[in-house]
This record gives sequence, C-alpha cells and structure tokens, in this order.
Amino acid sequence: MSETTRQRYDVLIVGGGMVGLTLANLLRDSGLKTGVVEKIEPRAVTDEIDIRVSAINRASSEIFKTIGAWPEMAVRACAYGDMHVWDATGAGVIHFDSAEVGLDTLGYIIENTVIQQALQHCALQAENIDWLCPASISTITLDADWPSLRLEDGRILEARLIVGADGARSQVRAAANIEFERIPYQQHAIVCTVETELPHAETAWQCFTPDGPLAFLPLINGQSSIVWSLEESKVAAMLALDEAAFCCELEQAFEYQLGSVELVSERAAFPLGHGHVGQYVQNGLALVGDAAHNIHPLAGQGANLGFLDAAALAEVITQALIAKRQWYALHTLRKYERARKGENRLMESAMTGFKLLFSNNNPLLSTVRNTGLVMVDQVPLIKQQFIRHAMGG
Ligand SMILES: Cc1cc2nc3c(=O)[nH]c(=O)nc-3n(C[C@H](O)[C@H](O)[C@H](O)COP(=O)(O)OP(=O)(O)OC[C@H]3O[C@@H](n4cnc5c(N)ncnc54)[C@H](O)[C@@H]3O)c2cc1C
Repeated sequence: MSETTRQRYDVLIVGGGMVGLTLANLLRDSGLKTGVVEKIEPRAVTDEIDIRVSAINRASSEIFKTIGAWPEMAVRACAYGDMHVWDATGAGVIHFDSAEVGLDTLGYIIENTVIQQALQHCALQAENIDWLCPASISTITLDADWPSLRLEDGRILEARLIVGADGARSQVRAAANIEFERIPYQQHAIVCTVETELPHAETAWQCFTPDGPLAFLPLINGQSSIVWSLEESKVAAMLALDEAAFCCELEQAFEYQLGSVELVSERAAFPLGHGHVGQYVQNGLALVGDAAHNIHPLAGQGANLGFLDAAALAEVITQALIAKRQWYALHTLRKYERARKGENRLMESAMTGFKLLFSNNNPLLSTVRNTGLVMVDQVPLIKQQFIRHAMGG
C-alpha cells in the first residue's frame, strides 16, 4: 500500500493564472514557502498573437516591474497613448490622451498567455515557490490549524494560508461556503484578431452600440484584438457567419473607423456576468481576483483589480512579518479585505451602470449618455480624474 505524502507550505495558492502567479511572485522575498496549485498546463506563447488579451493599466505594469516580469512582457506589449470612445446612436465622443495627464502612455495591450508565462518564469526561478501543475484537488479542508488540500494523486498539501485565485468558478470559494451569485448580463463577448485597412494608431477604440460595447485594441504587430459584447441571442448567428460576412458586420458596427477588416484568427465567445463575494477572508483563507469579483470587460479592468488584490494581500502579510505579528491571523487578513472590497465593489457597480446606460435604445438615455460624454470630454478636471482612475491610481 502506498504511503500518503504530506507537504507543508506557508501559503498555498490555488490557481496559477495571472492573479495567482502575481501573488506568488510578490511573496517571493517574504521568506515564506509558497506552493502554486494549477490544474491545467498553461497554453504556450507562439509567434501568432493569442486571441485573449488584456488592457493592462499603469498600476499593473508597475507591479510587474517590481516582480521582474516586465521585460519579458514588454516585448509583446502594445503601449497605447490614446483612447477614443463614442456612442453609435448619437454625437457623444470622448477622447483620452496620455499627454493630458503628463504621461506617454495610458496602458498596454498584452496577450494573457504572455502575461502568465512571464510570471511563471519569474516564479520558477524562486527557490521558495513550488509550481504544482497539473494538479487536481479532490478535497479542501479549511477548518483546521493547518488547512489542507488533498490532490487526486493522493498527496496532501498543508499550509497556514490557502488563497483562492482559481477564477470565477472557484473551488476554494465553494469549499469555504462563501456565497457568490454571478448575475448573467445575457451577453457574450466575441473575441478574435483582425487586420485593419487603416493603422490602429496605438489607440484603444471603443464604440457603444445598442447591442453592446465593441472594442478594437491595438496589438504590437499592427493587428487589432476585438472584444465585441452582444446579446446572447445574436452570438450564435454571428459565429456561424462565414469570414467575409462576419467582417462586414464588424466593419458596420465599428462604423468603418479603421476601414475594412480581415479576420486572421479563430473566433471565440465568453459569457459575461457580474458578482461579488460578501467576504474575502476566513480563518486560514483569502480570495483574490475573479474568485472574489467578476465585472463586465467593457473598461478592461477585471484583471487589473485582481493584480491590486494580490499586491494588497502581499503587503498586509509582509507588514505583519516585519512587525513579527501572526501574518495568517484573521485580523491581519481582514486588513486586506478592507483595502480592496470597497474599490472592487465600486468598479463592479460602475461597469453595470455603464452597461445599462449604453446598451439601450431609449431616446432619453441616449441624450443622457451623449451629454455625459461631451461633458466629460470638455471638462479637463473630470477627464483627468477618469484617466487616473482607469490607470489604477
Ligand atoms: C472577453 C474578456 C475580456 C477581458 N479583458 C480584460 C482586459 O482588457 N483587462 C483586464 O484587466 N481584464 C479583462 N478581463 C477580465 C480578466 O480576464 C479576468 O479578470 C482575469 O483573467 C482574472 O484572473 P484570475 O487569475 O483571477 O482568474 P483566471 O484567469 O480565471 O485564472 C484562474 C486560474 O485558476 C486555475 N484553476 C481554476 N480552478 C482550479 C482548481 N480547482 N485547482 C487548480 N487550479 C484551478 C485555472 O486553470 C486558471 O489558470 C476580460 C475578461 C473577458 C471575459
């Protein structure tokens, strides 16, 4: 009979996605022994641009610089200095320019595979981080001095703190009985990559159509990444169109801002929803990233909020270690919850409000949003506040 192996860590992070790996790297110099448990081998970076990309704000790029992951990301990052947002049903237009806040860039568009791989490379170099992948968890025991994970291969992993960084369908959150209601938006986001007739001009473009927001995000190789949110009922038909007919629909919805478009990738669709846990922490447990909150991708903020969660949790743990306090005690973890919950909730509500305001044909709402866009565009102080908030600080 084979003997059960037990391994002890200080911190076990379940989920080696972008947020979980960021946290592992931020804890690298704390002296704590960390294990990252990931169920799927991450997809490799190839010469072809991946269809999943993220708009990374300045706060997140600063975190990646601290970790040392930025140089590997930067070679595939498209810096954008402008954002052009408009309402397809009216005259409202808003233009954000990094120069208005005295900076050379508003953020970067980077493939998710590139972000994850760069973070993984940094983690693999650290002696006190174990990368446990692929690993399937069969049971999670939280109510113990040493909370633990039992893996399907029989190993038992124990730690003082288990962190759920395992995304929207978090197994850790479920094991902790933390309630989470994901409210569907009845929308899916179609993502794909296109070549455009006109250059993207290092600008992030976003058009609010009555069906939902449509973004053209600039990529390092001159192509553009599309995030097109559409009502559920229209998504299947749009995916079933042949390439030429799909591009025709896309060009029209985008009002030919970048001329004709050519599809250069597959198309995929992701269901959209929002939700927020009431509780980020328990004894021996913390949730970060999408395991704690989901928002609409229309402003490209979901992952950025997750990186700030990771930074806040690493900060409270590090401060407690320096002060020689119990770094995994509930009152320490609560500081993390206090630091992040309000801001994340505000962003979730703002995105839901934007979605309601813009995905609507009501003439009164159309007037409100067009007046709003024009006002924000013309009042420098409000505009600068918007830009600073979107940049994460
Ligand atoms: C179409 C679209 C566009 C978006 N664009 C942006 C954008 O431009 N900017 C932005 O900031 N955000 C964007 N987002 C949001 C962003 O993708 C998410 O917020 C982000 O991926 C969350 O990261 P995460 O690491 O918390 O979770 P995930 O990315 O879901 O990663 C979770 C990880 O945990 C692993 N895992 C899951 N369950 C287990 C388990 N039981 N055991 C072990 N491992 C497990 C998974 O394999 C995965 O690797 C977008 C979202 C969508 C849908």
